[in-house]
Amino acid sequence: MLSLLADANQRLEKALRYVAIPEDAIERLKFPKASLTVSIPVRMDDGSLKVFQGYRVRYDDSRGPTKGGVRFHPSVNLDEVQSLAFWMTFKCAALNIPFGGAKGGITLNPKELSRFELESLSRGYINALADFIGPDIDIPAPDVYTNAMIMGWMMDQYSIIQRQIIPGVVTGKPISMGGSLGRETATALGAFFTIQTLLPKFGQAPQGTTVAIQGFGNAGAVLAELLFKAGYKVVAVSDSQGGIYASQGLDIPSVRHTKEATRSVQAVYCQGSVCNAIEHSVVTNAELLELEVDVLIPAALENQITAANAHLIKAPYIFEVANGPVTSEADAILAEKGIQVIPDILVNAGGVTVSYFEWVQNKSGFYWSLEEVNQRLQDKMTEETEWIWATAQDLAIDLRTAAYVHALSRLAEAIGAQGTRKDYIK
Ligand code: GLU
Repeated sequence: MLSLLADANQRLEKALRYVAIPEDAIERLKFPKASLTVSIPVRMDDGSLKVFQGYRVRYDDSRGPTKGGVRFHPSVNLDEVQSLAFWMTFKCAALNIPFGGAKGGITLNPKELSRFELESLSRGYINALADFIGPDIDIPAPDVYTNAMIMGWMMDQYSIIQRQIIPGVVTGKPISMGGSLGRETATALGAFFTIQTLLPKFGQAPQGTTVAIQGFGNAGAVLAELLFKAGYKVVAVSDSQGGIYASQGLDIPSVRHTKEATRSVQAVYCQGSVCNAIEHSVVTNAELLELEVDVLIPAALENQITAANAHLIKAPYIFEVANGPVTSEADAILAEKGIQVIPDILVNAGGVTVSYFEWVQNKSGFYWSLEEVNQRLQDKMTEETEWIWATAQDLAIDLRTAAYVHALSRLAEAIGAQGTRKDYIK
């Protein structure tokens, strides 16, 4: 298999066939602007010292300060962080958000650390990165297994180092520390708006549409509930432990309740009222992807649908809520089968969109109501979804390529406008 970054670059190559971009811009976009690897020493609760590996990659800043989440996961490595930073660059451009792309991560299993150890690690990460980030340089945010609490510690640590409160250096913070209302549900809500905009174009109404969702974290669980409430039939959900399936549809609020109480969606199967009310079966994460449903939503990690299982996928519509769940080889197989893939850089862009709103609120010191945040999110998601749809129709190309074409033209314009800049600017 290709490295993740090489695979990500394949999407760029394909889009370049449909849009005229100067050679300089193409060359610039092939490589990350800067990649930093750091070692973070942490004093553990038992008195021992453990050193963790952390990364931050700033891919491209032609359109503004770089932006992207920080993930805490055992499989985090530089190649993964570089590809995620690449996707952030195209995501921000596709949504016309005035940011470039970045990403960060620490290699660890966060479930094995105490709260105090996690705090030391988060603060240590910012100590190591303090010269690399800033509200007008690079702005971290939550990603897989990071949340508002961790973002609060990071913002606080940066403010301690700078000797002043700088809320705009990190987004996804607790509301009490300058976070935005609606940020926590933004990725799911953004995906929901994209689904609601596109499915009618395929002649698919919510009622009777069956959905399977892989991943029951911040994005997957909230989206499952939004779809359930809008009348979709969510028949399968899973978390890292495995999943549950019920052909008559799952009662998602109960599944969420059980997940919150037990930390596992499979617990629903053998405990509690839902289990007694309807019949479930247990599915693995791999089986969930191959279910006969109308809409498949990978909302966990990258590389889930590859050349090895793409031919087994039956859902006609895949909405990528995770970053990079479908490889470029799998894309080709799915296209041959007539399966529509709605790309990550559009579908999951609600998170960074509200991060942008949070940053704007931090800069102005004036805070918006939840209704205002959600309305602006809906306007943005709907407008850019329609634009990408129109590009796909005009050029007779798939939606992923259309999203890249759309993003590339904005990136090329910014790179072109910089003229012959050669200096390295932090
Ligand atoms: N981690 C999220 C993403 O992949 C959000 C990034 C942000 O808000 O900056 O889009």
